[in-house]
Formats: sequence, C-alpha cells, structure tokens
Amino acid sequence: GETVLKVEDLQVQFPTADGLVNAVNGLSYHVELGKTLAIVGESGSGKSVSSMAVMGLHDPKRTRMSGSIEVDGTELIGASQATIRKMRSRTVSMIFQDPQSSFHPFKKIGWQIAEAYLVHHKVSKKVAMERAVDMLDRVGIPNPKRRANQYPHEFSGGMRQRAMIALGLVNNPKLLIADEPTTALDVTVQAQILELLADLQEDFGSAIVLITHDLAVVSEVADDVMVMYGGRAVEYGTAHDVLVNPRHPYTWGLLGSIPKLSAQGSDLRPIRGLPPSLINLPTGCSFHPRCDFQERVGEPCIKTLPGLEPREPGSARLSRCHLPEPAEIFESEIAQTLE
Ligand code: SF4
Ligand code: MG
Repeated sequence: GETVLKVEDLQVQFPTADGLVNAVNGLSYHVELGKTLAIVGESGSGKSVSSMAVMGLHDPKRTRMSGSIEVDGTELIGASQATIRKMRSRTVSMIFQDPQSSFHPFKKIGWQIAEAYLVHHKVSKKVAMERAVDMLDRVGIPNPKRRANQYPHEFSGGMRQRAMIALGLVNNPKLLIADEPTTALDVTVQAQILELLADLQEDFGSAIVLITHDLAVVSEVADDVMVMYGGRAVEYGTAHDVLVNPRHPYTWGLLGSIPKLSAQGSDLRPIRGLPPSLINLPTGCSFHPRCDFQERVGEPCIKTLPGLEPREPGSARLSRCHLPEPAEIFESEIAQTLE
C-alpha cells in the first residue's frame, strides 16, 4: 500500500530549567493506507510526543526537532506553519482519550461535526448537517438525527468517543492518530470502540496510528506494533510477532502484566522499578536498571546502546537487546507464566 506516514530518525528535545528532556531519541517507522500501527509504551516513553510531532503540535520555540516526518509526501520538519496547518487539517486527524476536551461544551454535537466538514467542502449547511448525521449513524449512534441536536454532556462516555471518531473521520483523513482512545472507558465499551475503528478502517481506508500503554488492546486491531521505551523503539514488527513471539525483555514485562494473558490474573508480574528520567537516560540499554536479564549479559547492557536490529537475517521484526537467544529464554522462562 501507499505509505502515508514515514518517520525517520526523529529526535524531539525540550530544554527545561532542569535540563534537556530527551523525549524522542532516534525513532523511525512508517504506516501504509489501510494499515494500523500500534505504538505501545508507558507514560514518558515518547509515544505521545512523537505523534504530536507528526501533528505539528509542538511549539517550535520550545522544542528542538530533527530527523524527518513525511506525511503524504510532505516533509514537516522545518516546514512553514502554513504547510503544517494545511497538512494537519486536510490529511491527518487526531482522536484523544478525553473527547470532552475535543468538543465545545455549548455547541450541538452534529453541528460541530458539520462545521469540520464545511472547512473542506463547499456545500450548504444543510448538506453538511446531513453528512454529520450520516457519520453519527456510521459510528453506531442510535437515533443519529436526534442525537445530532444534543450537546456533549448529553452523551455517555462511550457515545462521546464514538462521536469523536465521527468527527475524526468526517473529512476522510488519510491518517488517523488515536492517542489512548479507549483508556477512559470500561472494558466492554473499549472492545466495541476498537472493533468500530477496525470496521471503519475498512470503509475509509485510512492509515491508523494507535497509541496506547495497553498491549492487550492492540491485538484486536493492529497490523504492526512498535514498543517504545525511553524515547526509542525497543521492538517493532507485525502484531503477531510482537505479541506471540516477542524478543525484548521489556515487551515480556508488558505482556506479563496483562491480566487476561497471565495465569488466573493472580500471577501478574508488573515490571519492577520506574520509567527512566528523560533528562538523565541510563547509559547503555535504557532498560537495564529494570531488566531481569541484565546480569546474564553483563557489562554491554550498561555500556553500549543495543541497535534496533533484525533478530534473524532478513526478518522485518526488529528488537534492541544484547541477549543472544531471546526466543529460547522467552519460551523457557516467561512463556509458562503467561499460559
Ligand atoms: Fe536487558 Fe540487556 Fe537486553 Fe537491555 S540489552 S533489555 S538490559 S538484556
Ligand atoms: Mg499520552
């Protein structure tokens, strides 16, 4: 498929009074039309910062950025604000965790969707309202005509998230960035929303970047998965490879802390320690202070940053770790605890 988003060697830094925050440290990935890439990591891993960079949402005066972000063939790093704004409104759309913050509280939901449509289409208000009602219908909101005339507070959390998706898709964006779109919702509604996203992707054919801290949600919808730690990708591959045969100890940790994947939910193994400081990243492998396998490898983990490399020749599955035989270790020591 056509590559809609291509990020190469992206670096994002924020100078602060406490020092330079190294939020994204050399990140490369791409997404094609019709495909979903899930970016997974704890808070502070750089997953949101990198997608905000794609949206051109960082204040250029307070941010240092380098590398390349190509959206639909247009380079955004170093581009004028006008170019970024144009791309942002025509090609990319973003949905957030909290739809309440995306809707104006005192405007009717249908009209807000219609207004977004009118920005890019020379049609009458009536036609735009019809489009809004149709979008509400397509995201599974019952009585869409009546609902279009309601205010955001009259919608439940799940319904508001559906309306947010309707707003996000009303202009047929080539790229949809969904940042923790279901985190605030209960598990049943989460599943419905993810299913909805997957269905809509078939209709609209957009590329989707799904940002989440929850590896469990990605299995439903992602084609590819990138796991981030300390502003870098530590594992990147197809959803199947990353979820079924992961290679990185941090991914093992994330999988081990998913209730439904671990034995009876009683065998949860949260990753010990805390995410790293982005002002003082650990030397070598940023994960080494938390890694149960560091001692097995020894000094290289502390001294040398592992490259993001294929674990077998020619494979598109990449991981960043010095462990020589991660698959065997995963099978013998980790996999049983997940069964
Ligand atoms: Fe653990 Fe070393 Fe691999 Fe880092 S490089 S994840 S510390 S084994
Ligand atoms: Mg976030």
